[in-house]
Amino acid sequence: MEGLAARVDRVGHADRRRREAVADGVRGCPMSWFGSGILTGLRITMRNMLRGPITVQYPHEKLEIPERARWAVEMKPDEDGNHKCTGCLACEKACPDFIIKIDVTTAEDRSKHIDRWHYELGACMMCGLCVEACPFDAIRMGHDYELARTDVAELQYDLLTDVAAAQPKRKAAAERPAGAERPAPVAAPEAAAAEAEVEPQKGGEQS
Ligand code: SF4
Ligand code: SF4
Repeated sequence: MEGLAARVDRVGHADRRRREAVADGVRGCPMSWFGSGILTGLRITMRNMLRGPITVQYPHEKLEIPERARWAVEMKPDEDGNHKCTGCLACEKACPDFIIKIDVTTAEDRSKHIDRWHYELGACMMCGLCVEACPFDAIRMGHDYELARTDVAELQYDLLTDVAAAQPKRKAAAERPAGAERPAPVAAPEAAAAEAEVEPQKGGEQS
């Protein structure tokens, strides 16, 4: 019968031989030295180094905007440049942020006059629900993405003051020299009235 000392010696000897075999295998295989994960990482790193940059030097270079991109809401004029809004208020009701406010007055002859089409760009999440709700295809999501301003008052628009009301205002703010005095914020109805005095409103009367 095998004694305890002989049994311990036999098990220890087998264990030592197993560890030596594993060590021999590791010494003979370079993949085992580093692991395949390191080689995979090196391959990805080299591929990205050779591919070149995929970013552009904004604002000197600008990427082409996808057709379905959505930025600020703007009027969609007809062929004559007039807006197509009838003041039905469907967009105002559809807006989940409650940032569209359209003031409509009805004349004695039951014709509608849109006094104000107020849009608060600073609170718009650009979901496009107002555009989808419009039954007259009168508004659209613009592609002008350079909309950041340092004065929140400049993010309030009356889109009906002019068909392209938002564009000139944004361009004027963007082209203003650094440090130049900003125009004082004007309440939307007053701004609309001031604009209307300068230039008669196009297409505001709807029967
Ligand atoms: S895009 Fe969405 S959040 Fe912005 S005005 Fe239209 S409905 Fe409101
Ligand atoms: S923009 Fe369209 S949905 Fe909104 S009030 Fe004008 S016609 Fe109606």
